[in-house]
Amino acid sequence: MSTASTIEWTQSTWNPVTGCTKISPGCKHCYAERMALRLQAMGQSNYTDGFKLTLQPQAVDLPLRWKKPQRIFVNSMSDLFHKDVPLAFIQQVFDVMGRAHWHQFQILTKRAERLAEIASQLPWRPNIWMGVSVERQDYTFRIDHLRQTPAQVKFLSLEPLLGPLPGLNLAGIDWAIVGGESGPGARPMDIAWVTDIRDQCHAAGVAFFFKQWGGVNKKRTGRELEGRTWDEMPERATLEAGGSKQKMRSFERITTPRSFQVSSVGLGRG
Ligand code: SF4
Repeated sequence: MSTASTIEWTQSTWNPVTGCTKISPGCKHCYAERMALRLQAMGQSNYTDGFKLTLQPQAVDLPLRWKKPQRIFVNSMSDLFHKDVPLAFIQQVFDVMGRAHWHQFQILTKRAERLAEIASQLPWRPNIWMGVSVERQDYTFRIDHLRQTPAQVKFLSLEPLLGPLPGLNLAGIDWAIVGGESGPGARPMDIAWVTDIRDQCHAAGVAFFFKQWGGVNKKRTGRELEGRTWDEMPERATLEAGGSKQKMRSFERITTPRSFQVSSVGLGRG
């Protein structure tokens, strides 16, 4: 059994690494840290060291045992490109993703410099989506590093969005996810920042996914923007199912009726 996820833009999570260290303002209220400490208190064996970076070699092969095709968020509880994760371990994780070709894997990092540095030493496959987090204008350089990789689907997680992002260079980018911070002490997000990003995405032909407003009570604030939800997915968001290609929510279906769209109950890595 895979680990079903309530994060709106994925289906399952897989954590061959757990724990991390903070690197930029988006990390301030890291969800993974909160969750790791909770799991440690509950005695969960993968979290005996709490949020300390820990390799989980016993978890590396797990997706090969999950027969049902699914979209899998890699390391929702860590950052695969953290400096303390050895290159050989990252290569093993990539090898498993390539062998588990019936799934789609979504990797997200804030360590975009290391990603660019070692990208040529990794076995990229079409089912591996690569993303970087950008929370503020002074971190848009991560998008340039992402562009240097050969990933066939490149995406942005603009969450927690902490300021406006005017003039984004979206060349080569397939998908952008926007979300406000949630939980205790959540920093506010301005609607104008969100609509500007949406408009930039549409002008550039980039799929736009609005995850949440966030706030202290994210269920109350919901995920509607200008009266509707925005669940666009990259054009290549297809999964092999029973030998035939099954199209998931696609970029063309941007006016999907609300009743067919995913509900807002998820949490995601800060
Ligand atoms: S937000 Fe991401 S990069 Fe920052 S500490 Fe948490 S897991 Fe690490």
